[in-house]
Amino acid sequence: MDEDIFYEIFNNSQEAILVLDNNKNIIAVNNTFSNLTNYGRDELINRSIFDIELFGSFSQILKNAWDDKKNDGYWEGELLLNKKLGISIPVWAEFKKTTKEKNILYIITALDISHKKMLENSLDFLRNYDALTGLPNKNLLDDRLKQSIATAKRMKLKVGVLYIDIDNFKLINDNFGYPGGDILIQKFIKRLLPVVRETDTLSRISSDNFVLICFGIKSDKEILIIINRLREALRDPFYIYNNRITITISVGACLYPDDTEDPLKLINLAESALESAKEMGRNTYLLYNTKDTVNIEENFAILSRLGEASKRDEFVLYYQPKVSLKSDKIVGAEALIRWNHPTLGLVSPMRFIPLAETYGYIKEVGEWVVNKVCMQLLYWSKKGINIENISINISPLQFNDKNLRLFLEEVINKYNIEPKRLELELTESMIMKDFNISLGIMEELKKLNILLSLDDFGTGYSSLSYLSKLPIDIIKIDRSFVMRLKENEYNRKIINMIVQLTKSLDIKVIAEGVETKEQYDILKSLGCDEYQGYYYSKPITCDDFEHLWNNNLK
Ligand code: C2E
Ligand code: CA
Ligand code: CA
Repeated sequence: MDEDIFYEIFNNSQEAILVLDNNKNIIAVNNTFSNLTNYGRDELINRSIFDIELFGSFSQILKNAWDDKKNDGYWEGELLLNKKLGISIPVWAEFKKTTKEKNILYIITALDISHKKMLENSLDFLRNYDALTGLPNKNLLDDRLKQSIATAKRMKLKVGVLYIDIDNFKLINDNFGYPGGDILIQKFIKRLLPVVRETDTLSRISSDNFVLICFGIKSDKEILIIINRLREALRDPFYIYNNRITITISVGACLYPDDTEDPLKLINLAESALESAKEMGRNTYLLYNTKDTVNIEENFAILSRLGEASKRDEFVLYYQPKVSLKSDKIVGAEALIRWNHPTLGLVSPMRFIPLAETYGYIKEVGEWVVNKVCMQLLYWSKKGINIENISINISPLQFNDKNLRLFLEEVINKYNIEPKRLELELTESMIMKDFNISLGIMEELKKLNILLSLDDFGTGYSSLSYLSKLPIDIIKIDRSFVMRLKENEYNRKIINMIVQLTKSLDIKVIAEGVETKEQYDILKSLGCDEYQGYYYSKPITCDDFEHLWNNNLK
């Protein structure tokens, strides 16, 4: 073949070509190679291939390709080729060894595959990521979940799967069209991502459905905390085309390995928990749990609405009369909270107060009660219902809240209440946690001139000796003593002793849970001051209380 033609072909081949002599010095280079790498011919010719960092860390491959016997002088594969000023590009490279007239020649060819790579990467992206949000899609989610579970299995950890649905998303699309919906989704994700931990994966699996994988969860409780964090992040309104929109989410959740060890099944369980959650109304959360479905379902239903219950006006206060054993007249009342839950009906404080304590809602609930009671006192005094006092149950967290005193002072002033008409019921166990701190708190509270009582007396430490040290005005003898008054002589003795002791300390005694005439008679004979219980009245609404009060006067 004519040498010129050969040279022409060599120079303009699609492949970049280098030819080395048997010492691996470059003896020929084509234009394509120069163009691709920005190295001029002069910079390459006569230099050892190992002096130029053409293949960076791949120079080892380069050596092996030719020298390794089993390669037989041939290697091909994908490599990065370094351009003159740092940047590298992916190439398909071939290293060949040929012999020409007893001389060994080494030939390197490299085909630029960066376009192909780019295409592959974007295909890979499309296969695994959601184009609108850039989040992993269902495909990648399955992979990540399998990975998370494999790791969790090794490390003996749990993995939480949360199936998240935006409530009423269809309305957004209906009102603002799909572009409006897309804007919302993007803003929604922007809010959620900062509260998702680095080890977690948030993925979008359909228009308004998302799955969050939470790695290394310790218990159900932690899932609730995560859900609450998501909710918090969504609390502020969103704006779409200047329209203010508040969005809520419903969540179904399940736990590896508690609910199932099968990754795909986990997603299904979480989804079915979501379906049930949605049946209970929007803005609810549900944990799929084979062992304790009802209970946990209820807890979730309760929790998911607890934060907003006071705003939605769902709490109600009931009042149980406190009656004098001397005059049989109503002297006061204990305020007892009820929650009118939209689907569960009237929920007992025994159910939701502990949840409110655990999940940080108790302050809100407690403040609501204090406000309501003070309003009621003001209202009743205007109507001539001169109830001596109303007592309020204080939870341990409230008791230890540094702002309690200030808060009470503000409310008392706001409604212009006589402080002694307000009574706080504290329990032995919360006081005994740290006696000295509690004493300090109680002394501060007493400066407001309100009354303090010791609730459920006798169930806890039953140590009478500390009583004299505490600024206590009233002791409430626990129902359990009253209940067994008749059949148990011992209980009568205890109550007698409590009454005698409190007389000497100038503390008032009230018996709880009085249900029968017999109990009433015994308590009266023992010199107990007041009583409370079904025998006189169950806790009742404020309207019923007014009736009872007016009849009681006659
Ligand atoms: P507690 O302070 O011991 O309240 C007395 C409970 O005994 C009330 O239950 C009341 O309905 C019930 N009871 C009253 N008389 C009788 C009786 O003769 N027989 C029987 N068997 N029971 C009687 P409730 O209203 O369900 O309250 C339960 C607990 O929830 C309260 O126990 C109190 O610890 C807590 N709680 C209620 N309201 C509030 C509140 O506003 N804040 C806080 N932190 N806790 C509250
Ligand atoms: Ca009480
Ligand atoms: Ca009690």
